[in-house]
Amino acid sequence: MIQQGGAPGSGSARPAAPRGDFPLQTGADHLIRLESITKIYGSGDAAVVALDDFSLDVGAGELLAVMGPSGSGKSTLMNILGCLDTPTSGRYWFGGEDVSRLNETQLAHVRNRRIGFVFQQFHLLPRLSAWRNVELPLLYRGEQDRRALALHALDQVGLSNRVDHRPTQLSGGQQQRVAIARALVTDPDLILADEPTGNLDSVASRDVLAILRDLNQQGRTIVIITHDPEVAPVAQRTVVMRDGRLVHGVAA
Ligand code: ADP
Ligand code: MG
Repeated sequence: MIQQGGAPGSGSARPAAPRGDFPLQTGADHLIRLESITKIYGSGDAAVVALDDFSLDVGAGELLAVMGPSGSGKSTLMNILGCLDTPTSGRYWFGGEDVSRLNETQLAHVRNRRIGFVFQQFHLLPRLSAWRNVELPLLYRGEQDRRALALHALDQVGLSNRVDHRPTQLSGGQQQRVAIARALVTDPDLILADEPTGNLDSVASRDVLAILRDLNQQGRTIVIITHDPEVAPVAQRTVVMRDGRLVHGVAA
């Protein structure tokens, strides 16, 4: 359950890396490669360039923090990384596969099989116990052994003693840990977290970040999109966005 799913590398038949202000990682061990991604909403006078010739690699096993002010394109980036939306132009390679031109059905497949999502608002179903919430992604794929897998995921986030609790019986930090277990239960290649500490106090934030860091140290690839400066210390690398571009990249 803990292993990284042996993400295929980028292969050698790739076109040369695009121009960019930040050197792309070389080597075949990246899980994600964004090549000159542009995303334009609307058209004509109303067109908004949300991502502007944006290139970024994320290594398999990396924990990357993406920061930037409101309107800088973080949610747009999250939607593209999560296969929730497609770029206007450019290429998105995920695990060696070009996912930038997939249709909605194919995107849903990548999303459901290979990516686990964690959101600011937890998005737990209030009437279901913790383990019933965690098993949900497995229901959609007709998995057997759902309870065992859900209990294992809850154990990985330190909630073995809360499996029958409902969300209202859990603290915010515990609810977010349930959400992380739900993201983890399908053994995804990538965990994509959008402001995972945005609704938490500082103690619960540290708790959730420690869990994400532990999962990363076990080999899980994680991208955290955030305003929270507390995230950077647990990340191996932090990049900063502004106006749809990277303005700053720091190796930890
Ligand atoms: P962030 O998450 O960093 O606040 P977004 O990705 O939400 O940034 O937005 C980037 C830019 O794209 C902003 O100027 C925003 O107004 C615009 N934008 C985002 N979504 C849409 C949309 N669906 N239609 C038109 N413009 C959008
Ligand atoms: Mg946003």
